[in-house]
Amino acid sequence: MPRKFFVGGNFKMNGVADSLSSIVANLNAAQVDPNTEVVIAPPSLYLLLVRQLADPKFAVSAQNVFDKPNGAFTGEVSVEQLRDAKIDWTIVGHSERRTILKEDDDFVARKTKAAIEGGLNVILCIGESLEDREADKTLDVVTRQLNAVAGVLSKEQWAKVVIAYEPIWAIGTGKVATTQQAQEVHATIRKWLADKISPEASDNTRVIYGGSVSEKNCRDLAKEPDVDGFLVGGASLKPAFVDIINSNI
Ligand code: PEP
Repeated sequence: MPRKFFVGGNFKMNGVADSLSSIVANLNAAQVDPNTEVVIAPPSLYLLLVRQLADPKFAVSAQNVFDKPNGAFTGEVSVEQLRDAKIDWTIVGHSERRTILKEDDDFVARKTKAAIEGGLNVILCIGESLEDREADKTLDVVTRQLNAVAGVLSKEQWAKVVIAYEPIWAIGTGKVATTQQAQEVHATIRKWLADKISPEASDNTRVIYGGSVSEKNCRDLAKEPDVDGFLVGGASLKPAFVDIINSNI
């Protein structure tokens, strides 16, 4: 079975009830490729609203989750609370959380495990900084980030993970990776899955690209054999998101 094309929309800390409602209404009314899995991630305050408004064919994701089940963790949201709100996905390890909020590889791995054990699917973000890329350390960095997660997940649990390769230098900068740069890293991730996890995980795990994806560059990226979709930030707030969802047809 070919891997199902996957497009995530990460709204980040953007929007209020009115604007998010119209984004969802536009999406509900759009003609979207039925063979693409679409997941939208609004700010946590609006998860319930968006889940209520979005057509059931669209899944809804949190942008983050905590690794502990409950208790004195002010400001955090638990896996159980997300499940209770009918949220099926969470993003984990977004570079903005890794860099601005200092989340390290082990914390990201613990959150991934807690999310999956509690019944969520995970969009696991990895990616190198510009400094890493210029020092030719891209593959070392993404492998290190993946190894931390491999240390805590069972082989079977990888079936609940979508890996988002998001070079930090491409996020929100308008500077998209070339098709060759994306394909090289995605192929390395697929080989890592084969070597470290299992041939099934390598065949079945979606590896999606994120970083300044737009309606202009998505079609060429989608043609690469190991690019199984996109995680989209800025453009997911605009009508162009529909073109990106439909970039595989
Ligand atoms: C992101 O935040 O995951 C992202 C890819 O952002 P943008 O598309 O705006 O670069």
